[in-house]
Amino acid sequence: MQTKLFIGGEFVDALGGETLPVLNPHDGSELAQIALAGRADVDRAVDAACAAADGWANTPAAERGRYLGKLADAIDAAADELARLESTDTGHPVRDSEALDVPRTAATFRYFAGMADKVEGSVIPAERGFLNYLLRGPVGVVGQIVPWNFPLMFCGWKLGPALAAGNTVVMKPSELTPLSSLRLAELMGAVGIPPGVVNIVPGLGETAGAAIAEHPDIAKVSFTGSTATGRKVVEASAGNLKRLQLELGGKGANIVFDDADLTAAVNGSAFAIFHNQGQACIAGSRLLLHERIAAEFTERFVTLAESIRIGDPLDPNTEMGPLTSALHRDRVLAYVKVALDDDAQILTGGGSPPGRADLDLGYYIAPTVVWADPASRVCREEVFGPFVTISTFHDEDEVVETANGTDYGLGGGLWTRDLSRAHRMARRLRTGMVWVNSYKRVSPASPFGGVGRSGYGREMGFEAMHEYTEPKSVWVNVDADLPPWYWR
Ligand code: NAD
Repeated sequence: MQTKLFIGGEFVDALGGETLPVLNPHDGSELAQIALAGRADVDRAVDAACAAADGWANTPAAERGRYLGKLADAIDAAADELARLESTDTGHPVRDSEALDVPRTAATFRYFAGMADKVEGSVIPAERGFLNYLLRGPVGVVGQIVPWNFPLMFCGWKLGPALAAGNTVVMKPSELTPLSSLRLAELMGAVGIPPGVVNIVPGLGETAGAAIAEHPDIAKVSFTGSTATGRKVVEASAGNLKRLQLELGGKGANIVFDDADLTAAVNGSAFAIFHNQGQACIAGSRLLLHERIAAEFTERFVTLAESIRIGDPLDPNTEMGPLTSALHRDRVLAYVKVALDDDAQILTGGGSPPGRADLDLGYYIAPTVVWADPASRVCREEVFGPFVTISTFHDEDEVVETANGTDYGLGGGLWTRDLSRAHRMARRLRTGMVWVNSYKRVSPASPFGGVGRSGYGREMGFEAMHEYTEPKSVWVNVDADLPPWYWR
């Protein structure tokens, strides 16, 4: 298990010699002591990224793509090991890590491997007599700050487009879950990605994270995390007016109309909230049910929630693991009290999995379903756990108002057999992503991001390449008269 900082192609201790324990969320045991980057380590990493910047930017695009393709192959070859490492560190059930996290990470690197030599400029009919064309070059040294909920997958989402476009990177994984990104650093070295192109510095947010956000030699920061921290990153970035890309919190509305296929909607809605223990920015955490199907849906949904197999994430039969940290488990449980104070009704869950003393040392919460007024706090604030609210609606206008009634605007879903309504609703929901008769689909080819307090900018797809390139407009006088001013 790699535990040191990855700077300039080498694994090194933190300059201050500091370390931090990484805990197993299944039982609280110590997995490793990791080197903890301080400000001086971020400086070292930025120096390494600056030193590598010209070389990487001038590496032929197709060759950059080949490195990313080799990295994708290396991830596939190490898939079992990476899946177990990710599950041990985060609590993701290993069946999820094997089927989703690891293959999606490889697929993302592969997608951007193919994208590297397809970053095209354009010719613009700006003015007669001029050839005006747009070049797209790298932004420079990019800082990437990552949360703990999908640490490996976010490496793909962030490193893939940044490297394809010719940027060099200083990445700070969450101090809670740094192990898979450090293993990825080993794989990057093994496939020959030059030293300094990617530097990985696990550290605390208020030191290493803040140092990245403030750093004068970092041209852009891509941040994924909470809205509150995103705001701090915006403030810290003001010194050198960094470009920012913010992927922040969410409060996804998941709307079920009375003509929906209820079996599909019940199953899909369970995936929408309970996958990864609800620790997903796009989680469908607000179920909005048409009043005609609300009773039947709720009964079937609660029955399903109570049947979810909870346990050791490394057991292939486990469908739901622990939350990633004790602190976060307590934060989620505090919302049970908030719900009760607002007269919500707990339909199931609300505490540790019942009758499971074997899980007492871990950070487990039973799937929690709450009947609540859509105006109450639990229906407006992000809980980020296996905690879903249910409310009812009467008609389309009412549900659009409720769905759009939070500060967030990341993902949302709807279940209906009415094609016109599906498209109409997709347009009316104020979100960056909408799923119809499905929820939480992601693809390297499809732009991912939000509006409002869910942030700005997009990961993945062609949009991501625009995030990581700087456009330059070039004017060439081919056959134009020069303007008469000062003409002698
Ligand atoms: P967080 O905001 O606490 O931390 C995110 C990252 O920022 C961590 O690496 C942390 O160390 C760092 N950080 C903390 N303080 C910092 C500071 N002052 N300056 C710079 N960096 C700092 O979030 P979290 O608890 O790790 O993750 C959960 C949040 O992330 C949720 O709100 C969730 O919705 C959001 N999230 C959003 C997306 C998305 O794509 N929109 C994806 C996943 C998670």
